[in-house]
Amino acid sequence: MSELTFTRTPATPLPDAEREAILRDPGFADSFTDHMVSIVWDRDTGWHDAEVLPYGPIELDPASSVLHYGQEIFEGLKAYRHPNGEIVAFRPEANARRLNESARRLALPEIPEELFVRAVEELVRADADWVPSGADQSLYIRPFMIAYENFLGVRSAERARFLVIAGPAGSYFPGGVKPVSIWLSGDLARAGRGGTGSAKCGGNYASSLLPTRIAKEHGCQQVLFTDSATDDTIDELGGMNIFLVRADGTLVTPRLNGNILDGVTRRSLIALAKDRGHAVEERDVTVSEWRDGVADGSITEAFACGTAAVITPIGRLVGEAGTIVDFGDRAPGELTMSLREELTGIQFGTVADRHGWVHRIVSAG
Ligand SMILES: *Cc1c(COP(=O)(O)O)cnc(C)c1O
Repeated sequence: MSELTFTRTPATPLPDAEREAILRDPGFADSFTDHMVSIVWDRDTGWHDAEVLPYGPIELDPASSVLHYGQEIFEGLKAYRHPNGEIVAFRPEANARRLNESARRLALPEIPEELFVRAVEELVRADADWVPSGADQSLYIRPFMIAYENFLGVRSAERARFLVIAGPAGSYFPGGVKPVSIWLSGDLARAGRGGTGSAKCGGNYASSLLPTRIAKEHGCQQVLFTDSATDDTIDELGGMNIFLVRADGTLVTPRLNGNILDGVTRRSLIALAKDRGHAVEERDVTVSEWRDGVADGSITEAFACGTAAVITPIGRLVGEAGTIVDFGDRAPGELTMSLREELTGIQFGTVADRHGWVHRIVSAG
């Protein structure tokens, strides 16, 4: 099955000078590479029509079920150019596995992990010139799957399409890493027991956009969601997992409780912290514990993590009633920054890859 042959239709590449201008200041995937990958699935044939083709609009019938019932899942990972010229991706097989977990929850077809990884490799090889080489720059890769059948009756689609697109990403913190303020969402939740909180699906993001807008109105960059049953047990941010650091060096992070995403960055940081001898507790964590811990000095740092920004130090937590936590000039914390250095070092090829996380796509020279 993974013997699928990719048909290659070369694009007219963007002229070198224009591409180089974009790579100098790429923003966060504001522009896209010359190609994309597409693979189609239907119940009878399985996965077929694997293609690398010019990047461009896809045609959707107005009755296409994804437009009505939101059967869509996605992934996000990055490719990095190493100092020796190699191009690598970070743990793409973990993204493949997670896409399939999301697929099961959204009643979409699973895709063989090796086919997912090959699709990523095909795109990165076709658009290798788009992988930037500047400090903290990478190629952000967005694999996603949509229901791809035209009907309005409510049922899971019998036809789906998997696509991979990519765009260059600059440093998330161009002026140096700065702590963010986060807003504790009150009545608005992103997930609840038995829902889709642990799937990476567009629908979860749709429900987090209004709370994020409210967060911004309160001068915060991100929103923190708690468990809708207790309003105190911390789940995660709109698109990032969260860690607290205790004064004794213990890391505390919400357990995978069915509401939160099993982040690849989260998992990687847990492993790196354990390698250094830090205790890591995956358990229920509450806002009250965080507030009281900062007040009595037992909690010294907090950070959010995810592929886009790697680690984002948290400076303040704010809610309807005002400031709940304020680290002041103690943020960003020391462990936060040193874990960030280590993980980005592995990704960018300047720190040894002890765990075999780096997946080579294009060899040196
Ligand atoms: C993607 C995502 C994360 C981070 O996962 P990574 O694999 O570390 O990028 C965290 N929370 C949510 C809701 C996400 O969608």
